[in-house]
Amino acid sequence: MNLIGLSKEELTAEVVNMGEQAFRAKQLWHWIYWQGKTDFNDMTSLAKDFRQKLIEKGYTLDRPKVVRELTATDKTRKWLFQFTDQREVETVYIPEEDRGAVCISTQVGCPNDCKFCHTGSQKFTRNLTAGEIVGQFMAARDSYDEWPSPSIEPRYLSNIVVMGMGEPLLNYENTKKALKIIMDPEGIAISKRRITLSTSGVVPLIDKIASDLDVKLAVSLHAPTNEIRDKIMPINHKYPLKELMVACKKFQDIAGTRNYITMEYVMLDGINDSPADAHELMRLVSGLAVKFNLIPFNEWPGCPFKCSPMSKIKKFAAILEAHHYAAPIRVSRGQEIMAACGQLKSGIQKI
Ligand code: SAH
Ligand code: SF4
Repeated sequence: MNLIGLSKEELTAEVVNMGEQAFRAKQLWHWIYWQGKTDFNDMTSLAKDFRQKLIEKGYTLDRPKVVRELTATDKTRKWLFQFTDQREVETVYIPEEDRGAVCISTQVGCPNDCKFCHTGSQKFTRNLTAGEIVGQFMAARDSYDEWPSPSIEPRYLSNIVVMGMGEPLLNYENTKKALKIIMDPEGIAISKRRITLSTSGVVPLIDKIASDLDVKLAVSLHAPTNEIRDKIMPINHKYPLKELMVACKKFQDIAGTRNYITMEYVMLDGINDSPADAHELMRLVSGLAVKFNLIPFNEWPGCPFKCSPMSKIKKFAAILEAHHYAAPIRVSRGQEIMAACGQLKSGIQKI
């Protein structure tokens, strides 16, 4: 049994079940999540008989297996990870000067089938467990040997974006459990301000992100009207824009208006990128504290769209900025290692 992914309460119950005292779970937690050890023998402050028992019981601290690791010239690193049932997901590390974000996956494939998304074009297989979600981050830290959890800056793996494969709110319980483990100050200790969860808009669960986790929210908006959004994001039939905006408002009522929602907007040539679309977008988000993130569409083999020309993206950004919204254009990272969502996995499958 892999202990990674058990909540603190579950780990304590496991330890107590072994006939040990509860405080030992706290020590064990420290070794697993703060020190990052994978071998019980290295956990030197644990009593010898306790270590022995853990080994005899067959517990493990396994991370997902690295099938492939690629580092781009801009230092973006991408892993293809495999779980015990051979299923695979991608995880990406995007470094900045003295910090960096790890982009983690929550599902194998995605059932949402957004038309511009490479993951969406792949078959949905299953949800990841909490352990598999936490395991991606731990394996990324292994790769940079950033253990124990640095308590002073810089921390290279400082942020987490839940923007990899899958829709986190369709695997909410496991995602929530994983993020709680990751945020625990006695372990991996990444603060809630450094975690962003991105959703395509699973309306009934959006305010829970504020009340359960209080992490930052990003919404894959991508269209100013139902007419356009229906065509590119099937989930919009179930949860149309008006309901999505109400859910965002609810989120903000709990999280506070200083907690800006990032509206992600993928620039698709001739689909959602006209000045009229930008003006419509302004009407849609009025009353919400949002910032935009304009994402140049990352084309993939067989995709039905083209990326808007940069001149059009800049014009679009200027309209949002004239309305006093932040609207940076995302710089594409790790191009040559196919760091965009879903592309490494399929690239490898073709090889
Ligand atoms: N399922 C969640 C999180 C994963 S997708 C969501 O949809 O929000 C992370 C982000 O990448 C989303 O904003 C998604 O719309 C965007 N994305 C997907 N495919 C893309 C592509 N080919 N080019 C640019 N952005 C893409
Ligand atoms: Fe799933 Fe997000 Fe891709 Fe849509 S954009 S198919 S929700 S991963």
